[in-house]
Amino acid sequence: MIIVMQHGASEAQIQSISKYLTSRGIHAERLDGHEQTVIGIVGKSGGYDINAMATMPGVQEVVRVSTPFRLAARTGHPDDTIITMPDGTRIGGDAPSIVIAGPCAVESYDQLRRTAEFVRNLGVRFLRGGAFKPRTSPYSFQGLGFDGLELLKKIGEEFGLFIVTEVMEPAHVPAVAEFADVLQCGSRNMQNYPLLRQLGNVRKPVMLKRGAGATVEEWLMASEYILAGGNQNVILCERGIRTFETSLRFTPDIGAVPVVKKLSHLPVIVDPSHATGQREFVGSIARAAIAAGADGLMIEVHHDPDRSLSDGAQTLTFEQFEELMGELVRVGDAVNRPLLVEPFNHTPAFSRREPSPTMGVVEPRAK
Ligand code: PEP
Ligand code: MN
Repeated sequence: MIIVMQHGASEAQIQSISKYLTSRGIHAERLDGHEQTVIGIVGKSGGYDINAMATMPGVQEVVRVSTPFRLAARTGHPDDTIITMPDGTRIGGDAPSIVIAGPCAVESYDQLRRTAEFVRNLGVRFLRGGAFKPRTSPYSFQGLGFDGLELLKKIGEEFGLFIVTEVMEPAHVPAVAEFADVLQCGSRNMQNYPLLRQLGNVRKPVMLKRGAGATVEEWLMASEYILAGGNQNVILCERGIRTFETSLRFTPDIGAVPVVKKLSHLPVIVDPSHATGQREFVGSIARAAIAAGADGLMIEVHHDPDRSLSDGAQTLTFEQFEELMGELVRVGDAVNRPLLVEPFNHTPAFSRREPSPTMGVVEPRAK
């Protein structure tokens, strides 16, 4: 960090900055120019308040030269972080880009199984579905909770799909981690620090969605909480930000992909469904994300999106998803970053099994 003193700052003002720093055990180097003095601090930040220093008498500006996020920064970790799933599937670095697909919310056994089977047959390895739903209105469908997690786990095991699902409450983290393969921290919770700290305590990968109003730096600082807790398996997910533009639900920030890749070693994926809010635009943003170097995508799919209990307008039909997968494979090949498409070896006894009539009916969980 560099503190630039004003033209004509007095010696007393310069000394008072130096005293402020030395009293906090911070070593500062002073450089006197013809007209101005600058004070440089190298090494650990902390122990001082940048904003307070910027308003001290005689200070012109305080310029930060190093990033405030240390563990997430590429500077101290030049190699890409590659997250390895239990079967060896890799996320990030030079690994093929992944697709996480599934409904916005787990609604029933039948709904989830149909979608899981469909996406798995197209080579998808990650199934999404919210069991705990952060809804804008308290009167909207809030998700099936732990019963939804049980459906995710059962269906995930049947089809060899990794489960990606959101956890909203710090207290739920250990329990959700038993069902999920990747824990999702939603955009609304990106700065829920108690939740981030809990996510730092688990060892399963965490997918951290960008807050709709968060800068890239704030997003990386949020990831720092998880990394600082000891969990190195963080995947960043760009899901659109709020800008003055209202033509889409949010503004997809494709530029964040190369920016984050430059600043950080963490894998970054894009969610074109929540970013656009309209299914007709999901494909364009998904293709753009792969072309921009994203390590993966998260896409909402439902067998009957118009009857979906949440986010139907942005959810792809099976036909649209199948077409998009074909396009994404071609874009991936064109940019030399293939898409992970892994054939599913049917175990006939499983794939042809009819859901049992009671499975779709989710009874309230016994207390
Ligand atoms: C989701 O992915 O289910 C979701 C709610 O997205 P976001 O947190 O980005 O709004
Ligand atoms: Mn959704």
